[in-house]
Amino acid sequence: MASGIPPASSEAVRHSMQGNRGKNTKPELLVRAHLREAGLTGYRLHWHVAGRPDVAWPGKRVAVMVNGCFWHRCPHCHPSTPATHAEFWAEKFRRNVERDRRNIETLEADGWTVHVVWECQLKKKTVGKTMGELLPQLSRELGKPIKGRLEEGS
Ligand SMILES: [Zn+2]
Repeated sequence: MASGIPPASSEAVRHSMQGNRGKNTKPELLVRAHLREAGLTGYRLHWHVAGRPDVAWPGKRVAVMVNGCFWHRCPHCHPSTPATHAEFWAEKFRRNVERDRRNIETLEADGWTVHVVWECQLKKKTVGKTMGELLPQLSRELGKPIKGRLEEGS
């Protein structure tokens, strides 16, 4: 994925670029920790269907994609675009968003339920609400009860 990408023009850009790429990213690990804690286990990682969802229960056709805001162009926090090589980035982001859209369409057409969780929804201030909504939905879809409770705060 790194080939052809111009060097980061500033520390802020570098930070965004490194923020959430590839597999087993910090946001993804955080989501998985919440799932385990809730007892919603039995998922497979990067299952070989469209978009290789980060977390998937193939038998139930339920998937969770954990998206980095910068690369996938989050609709919630509107991440910045690097000022240099603007055209390159615009095109790259357009392709990323288009690919994400197609992957979700493909999965849904195949009977999957797809949840997209954004990196910014997993910050200290937002993670409680995000998982508070996601876990019960998954619990219903998977037909598994939620175990215990996550510790509040800290
Ligand atoms: Zn975001």
